[in-house]
Amino acid sequence: MKAVYIAEHGGVDKLLYGELPDPVHEGSEVLVRVRACGVNHVDLWVRQGLPFLRVRLPFILGVDVAGEVVAVGPGARSVEVGTRVMLFPGISCGRCEHCLAGEDNLCPHYELLGKSLPGGYAQLVKIPSQNLIPLPATITWEEAACIPVAFGTAWNMVFEKAGLHPGEWILIHAAGSTVGSAAIQLARLVGANIITTAGSDEKLEKARALGAQYLINYRRQDFLHEVRRITKKRGVDVVIEHIGEEVWERSLLCLATGGRLVTCGATSGYQAKTDLRHVFFRHLQIFGSNSATKAAWFKISRLLQEGKIRPVLDRVLPLTEAQQAHRLLEERTQFGKVVLVPE
Ligand SMILES: [Zn+2]
Repeated sequence: MKAVYIAEHGGVDKLLYGELPDPVHEGSEVLVRVRACGVNHVDLWVRQGLPFLRVRLPFILGVDVAGEVVAVGPGARSVEVGTRVMLFPGISCGRCEHCLAGEDNLCPHYELLGKSLPGGYAQLVKIPSQNLIPLPATITWEEAACIPVAFGTAWNMVFEKAGLHPGEWILIHAAGSTVGSAAIQLARLVGANIITTAGSDEKLEKARALGAQYLINYRRQDFLHEVRRITKKRGVDVVIEHIGEEVWERSLLCLATGGRLVTCGATSGYQAKTDLRHVFFRHLQIFGSNSATKAAWFKISRLLQEGKIRPVLDRVLPLTEAQQAHRLLEERTQFGKVVLVPE
């Protein structure tokens, strides 16, 4: 099959396009023909290399996959060839205390497609059958590839970790990011007061269309100052962030007493400073969040079918232009997902 892979870690030039062996599915696994694969920030990290991450080279990136089932292992009898699916990218053991408690994203044996297992920058990918999410007929392949990571991550942050309530104030950083644009839509569903940030007015107008009521252009305005002004010095109940260093200290200062900050990334750097006096004197809570539970997907899928949430697609590129896709993410020029489509 044709695939984009890395043979060594490094810059965008390390993304190679070429021929690799087809994946061999067995047991309860299925083989999926990739129709579209979303590009995520984690792809950039895997490409560059992470100190705690060991991947077997050559390695295929790509976490967010949509496609159709083309072959089914003997242990995956309930799945039919030809089914249109999105892939839930987190693969857990199914036996540990976390898995059995329905917290499969906390599984100590957790693996992620495109991070530790070969991903979707390819014509074919294999995955356990329990990781298939049926794709509503109204959603295109390209749209479907915008959904799993963005909405799964945002769901876990906004509802499972922060426990957002109607009428609360929420600050969602980076409206143009896929997690940001998903979090805005989820927060709107419960009637929260949504403040969001972006680096251009054009992005902010798109954020408004998704449901954000208060907009901050972080290139022109200091977001801490603006949050204080908008909330009349009260602060927000929840901050959703994945920028890290650049916004961390001011994000904590944005929180009202008893506020919750949830982080799922650190695109600007991970050595953020925390003044602990704010944490204990003001009863702040800081949550780390990674992926979502499989159970959350039943609800996300329903909302998608009902048209209450929608994928946010920036642009579609052929798989051969994976290098360009990574550059776009590095430059932060996109609003929503950049999606790769194999030939
Ligand atoms: Zn487990």
